[in-house]
Amino acid sequence: DSLAKSFAGLARNAERNKASIAVSKEPLEEPPLKIHTLGNRALRKTARRISKVDESIRELAKDMLRSMYSAKGIGLAAPQVGVEKQILVIDLDLENPTNPPLILINPEIVSASTSLEKYEEGCLSIPEVYMDIIRPSTVKISFRDEMGRPKKMNADGLMGRCIQHEIDHLNGVLFVDRVSNHEELDLALKEHGFLSKDVHSI
Ligand code: ZN
Repeated sequence: DSLAKSFAGLARNAERNKASIAVSKEPLEEPPLKIHTLGNRALRKTARRISKVDESIRELAKDMLRSMYSAKGIGLAAPQVGVEKQILVIDLDLENPTNPPLILINPEIVSASTSLEKYEEGCLSIPEVYMDIIRPSTVKISFRDEMGRPKKMNADGLMGRCIQHEIDHLNGVLFVDRVSNHEELDLALKEHGFLSKDVHSI
């Protein structure tokens, strides 16, 4: 009996783990959260650590995913939707409805490779502006998953790039702050209705 109970418990846990963050990747006409754009002060706030990963955090992750999928983005950080919490959602495979997204809570870069890489970045908060950014090609990160479990991960390529871009958001940093060719940046911003004064070059 107790064995059957523990099996039932395991099955329930497995079901919960699997279902905890499953949302449809179909774009919604009215996404639950508004994504702020360059010039909005929300993007410059520093996010706070999440002390307890509970149902409300998982609901936030789901709403962030719904908004990200609706905007056809591959990554979204909570400050972009005006929430000052250290949580990111990432999904590099928008075409595959069963590929699970990645939820990173309190992510930290533990180490970064000395080798650097140039990669073209864009951002849901600066739509249609794409610029080459140089960053470490590989990072090792620690984080908690959507069930609060501590995890470590090595990321390179597009995943490594996306994680570094999103972690920047948690510190109020935008990819345009990292552009060194200001002339090119100013042109691209102007073309899409953004102001160069909203860039905080680092
Ligand atoms: Zn972004």
